[in-house]
Amino acid sequence: MGELRVTLIDTYGRVHRDLRVSVTDRCNLRCTYCMPPDFADWMPGDHLLSIDELMTVISVAVDEGVTSIRLTGGEPLIRPDIVEIVRRINALPTPPRINLTTNALKLAELAQPLADAGLERVNISLDTLDAERFKRLTFRDRYTDVIAGIEAALVAGLHPVKVNTVLMRGVNDDEAVPMLQHAVVNGWHLRFIEQMPLDPHGSWDRAVMVTAAEIHDLLESEFTLTPVPGRGSAPAEEFLVDGGPATVGIIASVSKPFCAACDRLRLTADGQIRNCLFARDETDVRATLRDPALSDQERRARIAGLFAVSTMAKLPGHGIDDPSFIQPDRPMSAIGG
Ligand code: SAM
Repeated sequence: MGELRVTLIDTYGRVHRDLRVSVTDRCNLRCTYCMPPDFADWMPGDHLLSIDELMTVISVAVDEGVTSIRLTGGEPLIRPDIVEIVRRINALPTPPRINLTTNALKLAELAQPLADAGLERVNISLDTLDAERFKRLTFRDRYTDVIAGIEAALVAGLHPVKVNTVLMRGVNDDEAVPMLQHAVVNGWHLRFIEQMPLDPHGSWDRAVMVTAAEIHDLLESEFTLTPVPGRGSAPAEEFLVDGGPATVGIIASVSKPFCAACDRLRLTADGQIRNCLFARDETDVRATLRDPALSDQERRARIAGLFAVSTMAKLPGHGIDDPSFIQPDRPMSAIGG
């Protein structure tokens, strides 16, 4: 294997190895805090990158030193060519690790084909174990499909199956303990995530957010949590549950940001590079992908340059706690969660 390239370094010395690729802004759930039922601000269809365009950007990123691709959305599994996207990424000369973030509605049918195509792991989003509450939170009666999807992921060997939960005050914060009990028994690796200011209506309120410290306290009322050392650039702080082997993760994106170790870049479904979830600026690659005057070689060189420009412009932190913080113009579903 050739030497790993180290080109995507920012002005703070952070090396970027992880590219989050949003393959669609559409979703088959309507989670209240992410994409409410009246949401209609879709990307124009002709702005969405084709599989060939995605592959050009991904293969350039891999040549520039990216070693991990996370496919996301919107809901990545509603893209009809998702298995083919995974297969083609895995067929690159130096294949990166491939993960995917999903609500699992279509995972029962797709877990095995995705694993066969080269998918390594999945992160599944689930905020409640109560089918009625699930319906209220997502505006869809699909709880049993999610559970079937999680089981299919376990059977397909997409280990560890991480289940991500956003706790919201007065909505589902009574489920922290039951969710962890259920996760431990069923072999899920549960992670709680602080709610971030990325909702489409701009109604996020720091004072209402359930903090990582509160989540820790809620869990400690029932379990003994022992910190696991060696976090690296991972967003989650991991804890052994009652001495292990089960672990639980808490992701304190807001109250204890991990920006200093961030190694992530993002590509939106309409071909914009973002250097942070909360960035106010984007770097357009779509125009370069579609410029008929460019040879393949020129196109790839330009895209590599655009990655470098975006990386160099990355700020030291997301600045949520700064009084001048402004929520990004695009919601999570458009950026890629
Ligand atoms: N549809 C896929 C899914 O459900 O995992 C991928 C995209 S979704 C935007 C990715 C994750 O973002 C989900 O776990 C969702 O709960 C989370 N999310 C959305 N809005 C959020 C917010 N404001 N704060 C924290 N997490 C959020």
